[in-house]
Amino acid sequence: MSLISIIIPTYNEEENISAIYEKLSEVFGIAEYSFEFIFIDDGSTDNSFSILKNLSDKDSHVKVIRFSRNFGSHAACLAGLMYSKGDACTFISADMQDPPELIFELIEKWKRGFEVVIGVREWEEKSMRLFPRIYYKLVRKFALKNMPEMGTDVFLIDRKVVDAVTSMKEKNTSIFGLILWSGFKQTIITYKKGSRYKGVSKWTPGKKIKLFIDTFVSFSFFPIRIISVIGILIALFGFLYATFIVFNKLFFAKPIEGWASLMVVLLVVFGIQLIMLGILGEYLWRSFDESRRRPPFIVAENIGFEEKGSGSNACK
Ligand code: UDP
Ligand code: MG
Repeated sequence: MSLISIIIPTYNEEENISAIYEKLSEVFGIAEYSFEFIFIDDGSTDNSFSILKNLSDKDSHVKVIRFSRNFGSHAACLAGLMYSKGDACTFISADMQDPPELIFELIEKWKRGFEVVIGVREWEEKSMRLFPRIYYKLVRKFALKNMPEMGTDVFLIDRKVVDAVTSMKEKNTSIFGLILWSGFKQTIITYKKGSRYKGVSKWTPGKKIKLFIDTFVSFSFFPIRIISVIGILIALFGFLYATFIVFNKLFFAKPIEGWASLMVVLLVVFGIQLIMLGILGEYLWRSFDESRRRPPFIVAENIGFEEKGSGSNACK
């Protein structure tokens, strides 16, 4: 019988944990698979952990990892993968936006030999908000060509993919990006995403911006390439303009004038230079952060695991 690991990143979700647990147990209680639920408490400041601890005392399917602080849901998913034992692993969010029944459809595809099964949210073309639309377009064009057009929300991956992704132990990255980057045989199913059961989204605008930059810097050299192209274009323009001025002076004796336009050019060029430095800085900072070899997360305690999973030593 195949073992399926269901990984649930949890950050201040005290109102949702019991509901998602009950729903999952109901759905999996009648299934022909064995399963484990791995909850990762991503540094919650509410009662999430004690609720999880109680659940795991009652039910041996429930395993809990507690982070020492908030490391973000992608680090939480990575930890879940590292501690998982399943032949296939899937991520689901604690707010019940993704219907747990969906997991069976994902499993069906996996049984048919697909190593990466992606659940894509069904957007009505017009209702997809501008930001995600632009984000996924850019990602497809410049970073990960196999990113589904409508983005990704849920993944189920085979043990082979789990091993590939956990062996990287990358920080400042997107776990979904890493899965897509690793290749493997992928397929898509669409589903209707619900609304959050209780509470508010834990993905703040700051976290979204970080993910946006992380995705591009981790999987694309396009930002660096664009710097070079803009630099060359500006230099070329400057050179042509200089020729034009000298030409005018020599042949038409025209005086050189225009402080205002000079200021504009200066400000524009300085602005562009600062943006370029910023982009370089983003790469440099990540390379520095990686070279310090700090782990992508720190586990404060774990409950319910018989022995440690594949990568836990390195991150404990
Ligand atoms: N989450 C987490 N750490 C964070 C932010 C979110 O573990 O720093 C979890 C959260 O508890 C939820 C899942 O990630 O289970 C998805 O987050 P959320 O529903 O807040 O995001 P949204 O659906 O708005 O994108
Ligand atoms: Mg949500």
